[in-house]
Amino acid sequence: MSLVELPPPATEPAVRLIPLGGLGEIGLNMMLVESGDDLIAIDCGLMFPDPDEMPGIDHVIPDFSYALAKRDGFRAVFLTHGHEDHIGALPYLLRSISLPIYGTPMTLALVGERLREHGLLESADLREIRPRQRIEVGPFRVEPIRVTHSIVDGIGLAIDTPVGTLVHTGDFKLDPSPLDGEPPDYYRFAELGEHGVLVLCSDSTNVDRAGHTRSEIDVGVALRGHFEGAAGRIILATFASHIHRIQQVLTLAADHGRRVALLGMSMQRNVAVAAGLGVLRVPDGVLVPLEDLVELPRERQIILSTGSQGEPHSALALMAAAEHKYVQVERGDLVIISARVIPGHERTIGRVVNALLRRGAEVLYDDNAFVHVSGHASQEDLKLMLNLTRPRYFIPIHGEYRHLLGHARLAEGVGLSADRVFVVEDGTGVEVTKTAARVVGRYPAGRVLVDGKGVGDIGAVVLRDRQILSQDGLVSVSLVVDSQGAVVAGPEIASRGFVYVKENEELLGELRAAVLDALARRDAELVPDREALGALVRSAVRHFINQRFQRKPVVLPVILQV
Ligand SMILES: [Zn+2]
Ligand SMILES: [Zn+2]
Repeated sequence: MSLVELPPPATEPAVRLIPLGGLGEIGLNMMLVESGDDLIAIDCGLMFPDPDEMPGIDHVIPDFSYALAKRDGFRAVFLTHGHEDHIGALPYLLRSISLPIYGTPMTLALVGERLREHGLLESADLREIRPRQRIEVGPFRVEPIRVTHSIVDGIGLAIDTPVGTLVHTGDFKLDPSPLDGEPPDYYRFAELGEHGVLVLCSDSTNVDRAGHTRSEIDVGVALRGHFEGAAGRIILATFASHIHRIQQVLTLAADHGRRVALLGMSMQRNVAVAAGLGVLRVPDGVLVPLEDLVELPRERQIILSTGSQGEPHSALALMAAAEHKYVQVERGDLVIISARVIPGHERTIGRVVNALLRRGAEVLYDDNAFVHVSGHASQEDLKLMLNLTRPRYFIPIHGEYRHLLGHARLAEGVGLSADRVFVVEDGTGVEVTKTAARVVGRYPAGRVLVDGKGVGDIGAVVLRDRQILSQDGLVSVSLVVDSQGAVVAGPEIASRGFVYVKENEELLGELRAAVLDALARRDAELVPDREALGALVRSAVRHFINQRFQRKPVVLPVILQV
């Protein structure tokens, strides 16, 4: 790890905000707050990679190396809410360091599930916090502030530091009428603004949307209309973490005399967790196992399912493909996809919608019906947050570069001068003192790839190979040579994903001849070792295949010298 580009420490007390993820992309959220030798982290999230860009990669986590290098002063992680892009990388951090993790009850319950899967729950130090409670950690005093979002129990954070107060909104919308009757703590944000906020970090996700983000209650009204009009079975897919949306479905089911079966592991798990914590009220007798549900008349059935992004092995995708064990979608069924399309999932969702329509179902989704509201603040909400907190400095967070820049312009529109707004991306810190702020050097930050049990062992070269393999396949050439480089046996040619060897004997013959020819015509100076002969074979095979097919498979020479 190189820190050579970092400037010398400030002479007056200073606090540094160091984004490790989430600034410059959606996902991977993690921000460090550093004062002297002390450090806390806000969130520790992952990102799901685009399978075309990163074949085979399970997920992507932030680079923790800076925080781990400062491990003696790394005091705690504070979590704003339980979405994967905020908690999902925690198991990987806790493999390397043990430290207190603070979060609200629902957030910690979801974290607990993750840690259990990784065998880390027993050793984890999870500490429950509630809005307006204050926690002293080193030189910081951290106060959770209630916000609303597409998951229950979300908070923003006010952090008192030696130089002033930082406010981090977390993911938020300003829903004045949330289902749980716990509106955002407008008053506390305003009070902080009144006392002076040094830096505001605010959610930029929906900066392109005009107006206010609609209330969750509005979705309930719309869903009620759809439920009333439905003559047959209803299948509703949403995010398993969207407890309030799940609540609406359970309530509507009870009102309409329907029963609900839960499909998908995460859906079943989250409903159990949320009901246990009392943040979800399950009407008596509404939930039934799927085997019992399908015995009921169709007009009494509701299936609440995961798979709202069309994920290939999800319950919804299986139903659409007519491969589900118990559920056959048919004419008269109403399918509601009550979720936003996560960028990159347009194709998979489209495929599922088409398949459901072919089976005769009616399908309502974001493009053709009002069945979802966002969990993130729109322009007018963002302006309100800026006006309530009236920060001296502003850092847009949680977004791609276009979102961050848009949010910066919005802030300038409500009167913040441009020199007080910092558009920075992962790895670029902002140092603030009582009277000044500046951008400070590059910190180590980047995307660490997780594939199975391997963390960070896959880099650009392996990814490139995987992309080539997925496009043009692999050709291997094995031969045995003597110490002078004369061919004793082979070449044997095998292929995966290039051509079907058994049906292309003629081609393979030509390829063999090309290899032998290249070996025969090799430079007399060439040392006939495995490496040199391997390179020669590789280039001959590449040349032949490129001339003949204009394809570029991975070529793997296997040379045995006897
Ligand atoms: Zn979120
Ligand atoms: Zn988020």
